[in-house]
Amino acid sequence: MNERVFLTGSPESAAAYREAMAAAGDVLLQHLGRPLPYSGATPGKLSNLLAGSEVCPEEGEDLSRVLRETGKTVVENCVRVAHPGCAAHLQCPPLVPALAAEAVISATNQSMDSWDQAPAATLLEERVVRWLCGLFGYRPGADGVFTSGGTQSNLMGLLPARDRFARERFGWSMRERGLPPEASRFRILCSEAAHFSVGRSAALLGLGERAVVPVETDAGRRMSPEALDRALQKLEEQELLPVALVATAGTTDFGSIDPLEELASRARELGLWLHVDAAYGGALALSERHRSKLAGIEDADSVAVDFHKGFYQPVSCAAFLVRRGEDLALIRTHADYLNPEGDDLPNLAGKSLQTTRRFDAFKLYVSLRALGRRRLAAMVERTVELAKAAAALVREQPGLELAARPQLGTVVFRYRPARMEEADRVNAGIRRELLLGGEAVVARTRVDGRVYLKLTLLNPLATPEDLRRLVETTVRTGKRLEGVCSTSA
Ligand SMILES: *Cc1c(COP(=O)(O)O)cnc(C)c1O
Repeated sequence: MNERVFLTGSPESAAAYREAMAAAGDVLLQHLGRPLPYSGATPGKLSNLLAGSEVCPEEGEDLSRVLRETGKTVVENCVRVAHPGCAAHLQCPPLVPALAAEAVISATNQSMDSWDQAPAATLLEERVVRWLCGLFGYRPGADGVFTSGGTQSNLMGLLPARDRFARERFGWSMRERGLPPEASRFRILCSEAAHFSVGRSAALLGLGERAVVPVETDAGRRMSPEALDRALQKLEEQELLPVALVATAGTTDFGSIDPLEELASRARELGLWLHVDAAYGGALALSERHRSKLAGIEDADSVAVDFHKGFYQPVSCAAFLVRRGEDLALIRTHADYLNPEGDDLPNLAGKSLQTTRRFDAFKLYVSLRALGRRRLAAMVERTVELAKAAAALVREQPGLELAARPQLGTVVFRYRPARMEEADRVNAGIRRELLLGGEAVVARTRVDGRVYLKLTLLNPLATPEDLRRLVETTVRTGKRLEGVCSTSA
């Protein structure tokens, strides 16, 4: 064995580490700075390119060669998340301090499931979680844990909601006995614009996707409290059992924020668990200007927040928080080898659905300290302004139609061809052409059954000029495709 393949602190190891990190950095810098957001490579071309080298050769190759080659094949064909034309999804450009922290996270390789695998990391995660609880207005006694993302956090919100309901209503321990006979009548309410992971969680929790009752939204795509009341009334008539209410703070397409205060008071009256999915909108809490949009979140039983979106962290980094720390006990398990009962050392194993778990709290912590709240808040504020500016540009263009006034950082719109029956085809075509031409990465979504385009503006470095270019390219591509469609029709 040789010292150069592990990071041990010996001089050979240190030299190898420095070389390897420098080589990785060189490859990144060479390929990330291209003028376009994507190479435009098609799946077919990429698959041939990647097939050119063996996955596991009998004998290893020189690392810097491997990195250089994967630079040309892999990194070159990654979407460039810091390019202003990369504006499809909630995929942020990561902060440099977070990238440095990532290097520390992976090299120290702490695992968050027990104290003896992560002593300082355990306490630091707890400290960051306490800060987060305060950020969302939770009082002392609140708790939480880092997760892999909103999907996991939403599942973690609905799990204790389901279990608490079964225990309080039927004296039934879900953990020991599985679903009670009444479980087929359990219902989860959320807005029709809620994230699909709510339905998936319901399925995973044995309640089935049909246990999710989609509540109508108002013109601003926020859950309508009147529609919620009607839905609750209907459940009562059908003798169905509302268990949880999921409010969304920042829907994925429209950035809309459900009326949290009203929903919190309904949840309180009815004894429903309120889970707020703030995966996207949670970053508003950093901003003095926008924080009031989240008013009411402090009354939620649980909150999901993603840092790999509006907090500019590399994937993955997220958290799940609960207002009453003891509610995490509904998830807790004891394993003799990790957190034996009677052991007085702190550990986080009991708070997570995962066992081995990354020390992702560290990169958020380093970023918060290196940038400070004000600078992060300015970034969040900037993206909200960019969305407004993009919407104004869309309105100015006669060929485009805006679906809704932007509420956070997303802009949903479509190209209007002369023959509206071609609209879906042309808009789907625009998104594809822009991507495969490497010019822009925009998303497509559906609004009331029709194909629309979506810009998700998360990059605070984007300028109004970048947005203008994006919008003009869209119109130009639409015109071209429309011509092609009509001549071929
Ligand atoms: C992104 C998102 C999710 C899913 O989060 P992941 O981190 O991708 O698992 C859930 N809800 C909302 C509103 C989101 O925007």
